[in-house]
Amino acid sequence: MTWLALVLVLLTAASCGKKSADEIFEEQKSGVVLVLNKFYYEVVMPGGQKLFFTGIDSNGNMQGFTTSEAEAKNHAQMLNGTGFFVSDDGKIMTNRHVAATEINSQGKRIGTIIAFFCFQRLERYFSDKKVGKDGLLIAISEDGKVLYQPGQDEDNPKEVDITELGFSDFTPSTFEIREPVFKTLKDGTTYLVNYEYSHAFNFGLISLQPQKELDVMASAVKKSSLLFLIGAVVVICLISLWLYFMLGGPMNKLIAHMKKITNDNLDVEEIKFGDREDEIGQLSRAFNMMHATIKRQIKELQSHRELLEQEVKERTQELEEANQKLRIMSRTDELTGLPNRRDMHDSIENEVSRVSRSHKPFCFIFIDIDHFKKINDTYGHSCGDVVLKSVSQTIRDMLRNYDIVARYGGEEFLVLLPETDLDGAAIVAERFREQVENVSIKYADYIINVTITLGVSQYDGRLGADRSIQMADKALYEGKETGRNKVVVWKPERTSEEDYRAAAIEMAKRN
Ligand code: GH3
Ligand code: MG
Ligand code: MG
Repeated sequence: MTWLALVLVLLTAASCGKKSADEIFEEQKSGVVLVLNKFYYEVVMPGGQKLFFTGIDSNGNMQGFTTSEAEAKNHAQMLNGTGFFVSDDGKIMTNRHVAATEINSQGKRIGTIIAFFCFQRLERYFSDKKVGKDGLLIAISEDGKVLYQPGQDEDNPKEVDITELGFSDFTPSTFEIREPVFKTLKDGTTYLVNYEYSHAFNFGLISLQPQKELDVMASAVKKSSLLFLIGAVVVICLISLWLYFMLGGPMNKLIAHMKKITNDNLDVEEIKFGDREDEIGQLSRAFNMMHATIKRQIKELQSHRELLEQEVKERTQELEEANQKLRIMSRTDELTGLPNRRDMHDSIENEVSRVSRSHKPFCFIFIDIDHFKKINDTYGHSCGDVVLKSVSQTIRDMLRNYDIVARYGGEEFLVLLPETDLDGAAIVAERFREQVENVSIKYADYIINVTITLGVSQYDGRLGADRSIQMADKALYEGKETGRNKVVVWKPERTSEEDYRAAAIEMAKRN
C-alpha cells in the first residue's frame, strides 16, 4: 500500500514538469526519481550537487540526457536493474529495488515511470509502526532477506537472512497463515506471528507480538470481562430487587388479600399503596373498592337474611300455633269444648298400654241424655246445644284430674276412669246422674231439667277396648229400656263366650 501511495504521489509530481530537487525531496522524502519520455529532471541536492536523470523512450532507449554520454550510459546501466538511491543528505546508496510502470497514450507507449526504492528507507515508515508494546515488524524480500527490522543500522545495513532470526522452511512468497501461529525465535521469545506478502512489490511483512504481552492482554480482557460480568450480575440483581419491590411484593400482597377474601375472611385491612398512580396503584385501588363493595353487599345481604330469618321464624311460629290449634280442633268438639271421639280413642290406647304393665283396672261410663230429641223439638236446636254444653260442663266439673270425658256422639258422652274398678265407677256414674238431674238449665225464659242414663263397664283385656265400651253401651241400652235416669253396671260375668270369641277374632284381624 505504501508503494502504491508513493507511485501515485510520483504521478502527481510528474505532471508538474520541471521541479527542483528540494521540491521533490520536500514532497517525496524518499529519493524517488521520475523519468518521462523526452523530459528529464534535474535534481539539485541540498548540498548544491546536481544529479541528472534520463528519460527512456518507447523503445527503452535513453533520451535527452544530461552532462555526458558516459554518465548517461552509466545511468542507463543503472536503470537496467541495479539502480541507485539518493539519501536525504545526497549520498548515493546501494539501491535495493526498482519499480517501473509504462505510460500509454492512445494505445502507444509514450514512456515509463521508474521508481527506485531502497528498503533501508523502510526504517522511515516502520519505525513509528508498533506491533503491540514490544512487538516487531520485519520486512523481507522474496528471497528471504531481511529488508528492515527494528534497530537496523540504516547507513550500514547488514544482510540478514530470515532463517537467522529463527524462521526455518519459510518461503516468503507462498507462506500463509490460516490460524494463529506462535513461534519461538532465536532471541528465546515466543511470538504470535502474522504475515502478509505483496506480490505486486515482492516483499513480505512479518509482524511479531510477544506471547507474554498477549497473555497480559488476555488476562486484562479476562479481568475486565469478569468485572463486566460481576457488574452485569449486580445490575440484574438490582433490577430484580427493584422489580420485586415495585411489582412482586405488591402483587404478592394483593394475592394474599384475595386468598383471604376467597376464604371468607372479609375483615382484612385495605391494601396500602401510598400515592402510586401506576398499574399497581390502580389495581390496588380497584381491589380496595371491590373489597369495600363486597363487604357492604355482604352486610346488606346479612341484614336481609336476618330480616328473612325473623320473618320465617314468625311465620313458623304462626304456623305452629295454627297447627297446634288445628291439632286441638281436630281433637276437640267444637260445641262443648270436650275431646272428641278420636282423641278419646288415643287416650284409651294409652291407658290400655299403661295397664298392660300396671295391671290396674280402669272403667268406662257411657252417658246418653234422655229424650233429648224432645228438647230440640220443644225449644229448638239452639236450646239443645245449650243443654249439651251444660251437661258436658257438669260432668267435666265432677271429674278427677286424670279422668277424661269426651263427646262420643250426638248427645252421648264417654268417660274414662283410670285406675278405677267397677264399683268405684258405679259410684262416680251415680254422682253424675244425680248432679245432672239437679242442674236446672236456663234457656231464654225457660228452665229446663234433663236426666241422663249411664252404662258402666270395666276394661276387659280379653275383650279389648272397643268391646269393653260396647258392654257399657249395652248396659246403657238396658238402662233406657228399664226407665232411663239410672246407672246400669255391666257385670263381667255377663260377657258371653261368644263376645270373647268375636273379640279374639277382631284382635287377630287387627294384628
Ligand atoms: P233416648 O232417651 O232414647 O235417648 O231418646 P233421645 O231422644 O234422646 O234419642 P234420639 O236418638 O232419638 O235422639 C237424639 C237426638 O239428639 C237426635 C238429634 O237431633 C239430637 N242431636 C244430636 N246431636 C245434636 C246436637 O249437636 N245439637 C242438638 N241440638 N241436637 C243434637
Ligand atoms: Mg243417643
Ligand atoms: Mg238420648
